[in-house]
Amino acid sequence: MEKYLEMLTFMRPAGGVWEDAFVEKYLREPHRPIEDGYGNQIIDVGSKPNIVWSSHTDTVHYKGGLQNVIVTKKDGHARVAPGQKLSNCLGADCTTGVWLMLEMIEAGIAGRYIFHRAEERGMLGSTWLAKNAPEWLKGIDAAIAFDRMGTTDVITNQCGNTASNEFATSLSSILGGAYKPSPNGVYTDTKAYAKIVSECTNISVGYYRQHSSQESQDLNHLKWLRDRMVQFDASTLVFKRDPAAAPADYDPYDFMDWDQSQ
Ligand SMILES: [Zn+2]
Repeated sequence: MEKYLEMLTFMRPAGGVWEDAFVEKYLREPHRPIEDGYGNQIIDVGSKPNIVWSSHTDTVHYKGGLQNVIVTKKDGHARVAPGQKLSNCLGADCTTGVWLMLEMIEAGIAGRYIFHRAEERGMLGSTWLAKNAPEWLKGIDAAIAFDRMGTTDVITNQCGNTASNEFATSLSSILGGAYKPSPNGVYTDTKAYAKIVSECTNISVGYYRQHSSQESQDLNHLKWLRDRMVQFDASTLVFKRDPAAAPADYDPYDFMDWDQSQ
């Protein structure tokens, strides 16, 4: 968890030098990802991946820089340390997703790993990719984001249906724990893929009160989920939803208010 806690110290509004420093240190330098025309970072594990794993490298911090982070013994949650005047949130949204994906890459779990830019500004990186470089989504059956509060949700709705119940049920049983299908999503990057990719979901990663100074991350849940994900076996996933059958008036690029993500 040491690396994860270090990653949380980076406050990184979209497009700033601190987001770039974070991308350099944790993605470019160790993994040499492919960068698309918007700056999304893409790493393939295995040949012909059929699953996109999704997170975003920006946070909703107002200012870039470094912050101190503490772990509260009582509940095992990470939080911003007291007195961090320049910080307005922890940024577990989406540091947690980035870290989980790095752990999965190291474990050799197959997939196309997309570290998106500017999700918090309204899915800008994923929207750019869907419109300008949809070849990255060719042959992809499911796009699974790690960008959701709580510990139980496999999201089927992002302002409209984006994943089938059959898929969400199959993913829930691979994950185990208390995971179950939930229609209560708002949006994250995988929404932008809803008219191209069959199953587009977002799963709980154990953060709470995101986008606020009270944001915290349940480290026990995160460790548990990491252990599940580094042995993820996708062979029982069910792909049912027809992306072409999405209602004509469903706009996958629409976001309501950038401060309301997830
Ligand atoms: Zn997020």
